[in-house]
Order: sequence, then structure tokens, then C-alpha cells
Amino acid sequence: MSRIASSRPLTALVHRDALAHNLRRVREAAPTARVLAVVKANAYGHGLITVARALVEADGFGVLGLDEAVRLREAGFAHPILLLEGPFAAEDLVEAARLGLAIVVHSEEQLSMLETTPLTRPLDVFLKVNTGMNRLGFAPEAFAAARARLLASQRVGRITCMTHFATADEPAGLGAQFARFRALIGATMPFSAANSAALLRYPETHGDWVRPGIMLYGASPFADVSAAALGLRPAMSLVSRIIAVQRLRRGDAVGYGASFVASDDMRVGIVACGYADGYPRHAGTGTPVLVAGQRSRTVGRVSMDMLCVDLTNLPDAGVGTPVTLWGQGLPVEEVAQAAGTISYELLTGRAERVPLVEA
Ligand SMILES: *Cc1c(COP(=O)(O)O)cnc(C)c1O
Repeated sequence: MSRIASSRPLTALVHRDALAHNLRRVREAAPTARVLAVVKANAYGHGLITVARALVEADGFGVLGLDEAVRLREAGFAHPILLLEGPFAAEDLVEAARLGLAIVVHSEEQLSMLETTPLTRPLDVFLKVNTGMNRLGFAPEAFAAARARLLASQRVGRITCMTHFATADEPAGLGAQFARFRALIGATMPFSAANSAALLRYPETHGDWVRPGIMLYGASPFADVSAAALGLRPAMSLVSRIIAVQRLRRGDAVGYGASFVASDDMRVGIVACGYADGYPRHAGTGTPVLVAGQRSRTVGRVSMDMLCVDLTNLPDAGVGTPVTLWGQGLPVEEVAQAAGTISYELLTGRAERVPLVEA
């Protein structure tokens, strides 16, 4: 690995105080539940270990792969860690036992794997039932039998019933999913059901473990409510600088495809950030951007390493002027909306070449 750090100005700042603040918001919203901080996908692009340190007060962590669990254990985190999709192979079970992880069991294949793999210690299991998302989980009719087999297997510690909602963030709400879940598990079994949206809107879903992801990173799970209105603070700011300035005459175009044509003389700033950094190429002319803290807009197509911003009302902006692509002062949801996507995709899509810097 090169020891020469790039001096390209594009950086993803990770605001540790914002992460800690957002966790406090989770506690306020769900005061009786334990908090499983979801840190899959490299903590939604924010850096697994940085985030885990900032969220050390969480009661546990939710990850996708064993590699993430190993990194957490090696960094000294003794928290409960849940493999959110469970084991993919029998070896995963052996490793999960070695690392003291909890696992999701959502399928017949995983259940028989558990019944037949010798383990050094019992595993805590989140038994997942499909209540309508139709992705992972046992059918409600198969749930009781699956639970009985877990109990009989002698390989299982605590069992927590689990489900995942498809529309907790939408006007449709939980639909029939939570009622179906409750009918199945009764009043006494421990359960985990709430993602960020359900955590914020449906207290009845809190149960024993809430599983917030996006809200910890300071983005709103709802299309119609801002993160600020929910008391959340952005945990990542994608920042860069202007590296060149062009003066366009009326009728001049900028960028590939000449898709933007100046209707008047104007200045544009060329910013070090492109789609190879994870900035969405689908963000067309007019996508909001902050230049020297002031709102402006992108113009023309986003290219691989650069994008262009309108400097019309920014006479003092020039080479070196700071630009915020999203984060503090510019909610990532607004950029996502302009690009026809969601904050989750932009945050998790930060490219490896964009350094994370703790702030
Ligand atoms: C990713 C994930 C979550 C977190 O969802 P958010 O919408 O980001 O809060 C919760 N539960 C499971 C099973 C997940 O995979």
C-alpha cells in the first residue's frame, strides 16, 4: 500500500458526536427496548469500527457477514452481535460459536444446519418469520414447528422471535404484518421487529430489541418527514473543493453530452467528485449542493471524477472554495431524491477511494 496520501480534496467526514446524538434519539423514542445498532455494509458506508466506537453505548450490533463480526471482536467489542441473515454455510455456525455471536435462522436449510453441526457452545437465535415482506423467514404456519426443533436441538440459548416490515416507512404503515406477528408469538415471547421507521412511528413494535440503521446515520426513513424534524443529525458530510472555474458565454455547453447550455453568461465551478466516488450519475442539472456554505445547484452531467456547479450567485467562489455534496447543511435525502434514489444507496455507495475522516 502506498504511503503517499492523496491530496485530492474529496473526503467523507464522519461526525462521531452526531452518531452518539442519534443513538440518544433512539433511546428517547424506544426507552424500554434494547438497541441493536445495525452496522452492516461497513456501517452504511461510515466505517465499521469508527461507528462502533461512537455507538459503544448500544446494547448490540447487527452485521451481515462474519468478516464484520470478526473485525468487531478483534477491535475489542464484547457486545452481542447478530448475523442479520444468519449463517450461509455450516462453517459459519462453528465460527459464530467461537465468536459468541447470535444468528438469525430464517430457513429450513439453516435449521437443519444447526441441528447437525457440532458446536462448542449454544447460540442465541433470532427466529425469523415472514409476515408479509416475502423475502426471508418461515411461513407463519411453519413457525411453531421450527421453534420446537430449535428447542429440541440442544444447540440453542435464548430464542427471540423476529420479523421485518416492508412498509413501515410508508403511509400504508405496518399493514397486517404486526398483527400477524403478534398473533403468532403471543404476549410472552421475546421479539424484535422494528427498523428505524417502525421504531419512530409504531411504539407497539419495540419489543425486546429495536434494530435501527438509517436513523443512527442521521437520515430520515420517511419521504415526508425530514431528519431535522425527527431530531437527527447527519453522520456523514461528503465534502470537496472547486478545482477549476470556467466562464461560459451564452450558448456554451458544459460536460459530456453537452446536456446543459448556458442561457446567459455564467461561471461554473468544477468540483472534485464524480460517479466513481459514489455520487449518483442520475443526479441531473439542479441537484442541490452547498458552495462555501451557500445553496447552489449542479449543472450538466456528473462525470467519473468531476461534477459542475453553478457559481452565478457566488462571485467570491473560486479554486479552493469548499463544497458540500451532502451532509451538514444539506440532507443526503435531498440529493437522493434529485437522483431518484434513497439516502441508503448514496451512503452505502461511497467509493473506497474516498477517504473517511473522523470529525
Ligand atoms: C438493515 C436492517 C435493519 C435496519 O433498517 P433501517 O431502515 O436502516 O433502520 C433492520 N433490520 C434488518 C433485518 C435489516 O436487515
